[in-house]
Amino acid sequence: MSGSTAQNSQTVNTSTGQVPTPMATPNSLSQTPSETNQSAPTQALIQENQTAQQPQVQSSTPPQAPTTTPQTENQNMDEQKKAGEQEPDNQTPTKKIQTIEKPKDGSELNIVELINYIVKQAIKAKTSDIHIEPHEEVVVVRFRIDGILKDVLQVGKDIQESLLFRIKVAAKMRTDEHFAPQDGRIRFIIENKKIDTRISILPTSSGEKVVMRLLIKEGKSFTFSSLGMSDADQLVVEKSYNRPYGMILAVGPTGSGKTTSLYAILQKLNSRDVNITTVEDPVEYSIDGVNHIQVNNKANLTFASGLRSILRQDPDIIMIGEIRDAETANIATNAALTGHLVLSSLHTNDAISTIPRLIDMDVEPFLVASTLNIVIAQRLARKLCDKCKKQITIDQEELTRITKMRQDIAMNFKVGDVVYKEEGCETCGDSGFMGRFGLFEILEITEKIRRMISERENIDDVFKVARENGMKLIVEDGVNAVKTGTTSLEEIMRVTALKQ
Ligand SMILES: [Zn+2]
Repeated sequence: MSGSTAQNSQTVNTSTGQVPTPMATPNSLSQTPSETNQSAPTQALIQENQTAQQPQVQSSTPPQAPTTTPQTENQNMDEQKKAGEQEPDNQTPTKKIQTIEKPKDGSELNIVELINYIVKQAIKAKTSDIHIEPHEEVVVVRFRIDGILKDVLQVGKDIQESLLFRIKVAAKMRTDEHFAPQDGRIRFIIENKKIDTRISILPTSSGEKVVMRLLIKEGKSFTFSSLGMSDADQLVVEKSYNRPYGMILAVGPTGSGKTTSLYAILQKLNSRDVNITTVEDPVEYSIDGVNHIQVNNKANLTFASGLRSILRQDPDIIMIGEIRDAETANIATNAALTGHLVLSSLHTNDAISTIPRLIDMDVEPFLVASTLNIVIAQRLARKLCDKCKKQITIDQEELTRITKMRQDIAMNFKVGDVVYKEEGCETCGDSGFMGRFGLFEILEITEKIRRMISERENIDDVFKVARENGMKLIVEDGVNAVKTGTTSLEEIMRVTALKQ
């Protein structure tokens, strides 16, 4: 809360476990405390890890203008992260971030190296998306790590144009276009590994904003075990995809891991004796042996038209990235009815809402009833870092606080219960969390539920039957994860907050 800066750490540094060495001179990005040569070439910083680990830091109460914006950003981020948390004890008020500016001696900054450096740091920090965001006086680079955005470094406004130019060239975009959105891809070769990225540029009032999605398949495993699904739930899911036809739906908001779940099933079903075809927007990962088709609106290849074409390709298993409209919903259910196994995703908050949602999209209730096998509703929550998680005992005050915010969660705890919360250490980049896991709610469409759907019975009654059959709610899965110390109460409140 105070302006104290003593243990403020740098994102770039902590992500690799190195201790930063704060420096007072913000402008020269090229030297470290031991290399005090003011005019060292820029490349030195970007090429050499060691140098990169010790970038310049600006004081948290800086005389320079550029830090103003990112500080505000950080506060917003902290507020978001700590939503609802009143105690300010371990909040970091103003995280200092690295600043990269043009060398003062007039030498050129190597933009290609700068971009490589950013991507390299992103990979180290297990980033999913890099945001290069123009502000009025500075360009802020932010990483999304475990679903949360974090300011990482800032680039001088005088570098903005050349940075954008380089990215556009590499992504084969129009360099003379500044007012229209553009999409492209860049393949980086970093430490002899191919790193594919999907690039999106969108003009904002402060200039063009770049978002780079890192498409890293390596080390990413598409299995339910790695997502943290319980053995009991896995058995139910397994039963659903072992049926020769019908529909399997993964539901939840954007970024809840739906694609990973569908891929986990595809991976299981993938063999030489079946034809698996997908239509996706975008195709992010390719599974060997699976035919992935990319939606292309310009070529009129939509989810619906792609799906129609797939049906003429003698498919066994079809995956449709997302059911967004009535047309797609109807082709998909018809495909499931005519002997295909259809996998797809939908935006609904919970499993049971999927049924009225499909009916809203003009799918006849009898069709929903006869095709739907299972609905997997899910969220992704961050796992507490094992190295630094802090044990706390719930007291009356805490219980009252949680009850006020989330009665449904609070009712599962009592005074004296021991839970854990995040602390932050070098291993976890000071966030207190490492990696994510899934929270699941699995609706198995039993014979009784099928009959109820086709007879258009009240959805609340269907829900009751599902609960009697043992359907566990996402919140309950989350409460279990808090009780086992996998994650914190705040995190569960965050990811299970209803978004209307
Ligand atoms: Zn930690």
